[in-house]
Amino acid sequence: MGVFGRCNSGKGRGLCVWLWGDNCWLKGTNMKVLIVGGGIAGLTLAGLLQRRPGMEIVLVERAERFEELGGFAIGLYPMGSRVMHGLGVFDEFVKRSREMKGYEVHDDAGKLVRRFDWEKVGEQYGQTRLIARSELVNVLHGGVGDGVDVRMGRTVETIDEKENMVGVKFDDGVEEVFDLVVGADGLHSKVRQICFKKGESFDPEWGGWVWWMDLNEKGKHGDIVENWGRGRFLGFYPTDRRMCIAVFGPNQEIEIHGDGRKEKVKRYLGGLGAAYEGVMDAFPEDEDEVVYWRLKDCWSRKWHTKRVVLVGDSGSAVLPTAGAGASMAMESAAVLADELLRVDEVCVERALMLYEKRRKRQVKKVVDQSRSIAGMMIKTTDWAMRMRFLKMRVLPRRLMTRMVVKGLREPI
Ligand SMILES: Cc1cc2nc3c(=O)[nH]c(=O)nc-3n(C[C@H](O)[C@H](O)[C@H](O)COP(=O)(O)OP(=O)(O)OC[C@H]3O[C@@H](n4cnc5c(N)ncnc54)[C@H](O)[C@@H]3O)c2cc1C
Repeated sequence: MGVFGRCNSGKGRGLCVWLWGDNCWLKGTNMKVLIVGGGIAGLTLAGLLQRRPGMEIVLVERAERFEELGGFAIGLYPMGSRVMHGLGVFDEFVKRSREMKGYEVHDDAGKLVRRFDWEKVGEQYGQTRLIARSELVNVLHGGVGDGVDVRMGRTVETIDEKENMVGVKFDDGVEEVFDLVVGADGLHSKVRQICFKKGESFDPEWGGWVWWMDLNEKGKHGDIVENWGRGRFLGFYPTDRRMCIAVFGPNQEIEIHGDGRKEKVKRYLGGLGAAYEGVMDAFPEDEDEVVYWRLKDCWSRKWHTKRVVLVGDSGSAVLPTAGAGASMAMESAAVLADELLRVDEVCVERALMLYEKRRKRQVKKVVDQSRSIAGMMIKTTDWAMRMRFLKMRVLPRRLMTRMVVKGLREPI
């Protein structure tokens, strides 16, 4: 089948023709794309765009090696993981992750409030799976072929956008010209800072520490366990071989660096920490270098200019409270790739406009949801705590899974 299309970029050169054959694009392109950031969105996008003949892709990643990007566990919903089928890495993802079978909410003393069965969602829509972030990045990297020019330990210095191209200067002094620059450089995006207005940010002034342990029995079964205490939070996230532990609380109480960190965090957790003594014993020692994760997001009102676009956390960071930022980043990367595969280098802006239209409303819903969960998490009064657990006890299971299920039912 052949399809002839006209793309009105309004710049005189704006006629682009494409042909759709048996599941493959027959028309190549001369498009040269720079992806800044080799994280979840950047690698997904590179893996999908490389399929198009003639597409020249450069990916710069600030870290020296992908394995260094480590950190925490990621729960990936099917809307994110299904993108991996198209990247040819889904089986590898399954091998390196663990199915989330249930979600348990516990109280300040570690007592079970409610368990939500997650297997039913999995049976209907596909499994939610837990994976270490470093493993996920490695799986996605496996989907990026040699045709992509990956430059590690590199970033951009300046971005100079003109009508028909973008001039970029890298931190090693090299200057190059691209048809499109993609900011996939996460929450603190440099591309956003250079090319867009300051985003709007939600900051409950909470944050946390993350560490790893051997799996316990619950972990082996595949249950996420979260303890929602009074101004404190302790969560357990089982991946394929290890268990990720996360402690969250107000920055002013638990953001402690250096001497006394472990003792002070333990003391702050009080009875909740005592309920999981062995776990707290494994908390990083004071001299260990660990990242403190601030519960802070960023929402950029605009995601694209004529030839620069934001994808993933760079334009729409989702708080970890929704456990959906990575899924959203992958889904957005897939939509951006889908639109870019339909235009040539002249009509880039049209693809960016359609990408933003297709994604913005859906992503904003998840951002808002992550903010409202954070609002619930930081409440400390007796009344608020009682209401929180009452809601949890009476909440129909289908409401708990609504965000995920709705996301899976909506077209992207
Ligand atoms: C503690 C914690 C737990 C979370 N848990 C979950 C979860 O369970 N489920 C979920 O879906 N999401 C979770 N998230 C959110 C999720 O990690 C992010 O939404 C997701 O990683 C966004 O992907 P991204 O590719 O946009 O950004 P990132 O994954 O942050 O990737 C950005 C990449 O850009 C690189 N970079 C940064 N600046 C530059 C630069 N200037 N030049 C070049 N490269 C640069 C970085 O090194 C990185 O590789 C969690 C986040 C945190 C902090």
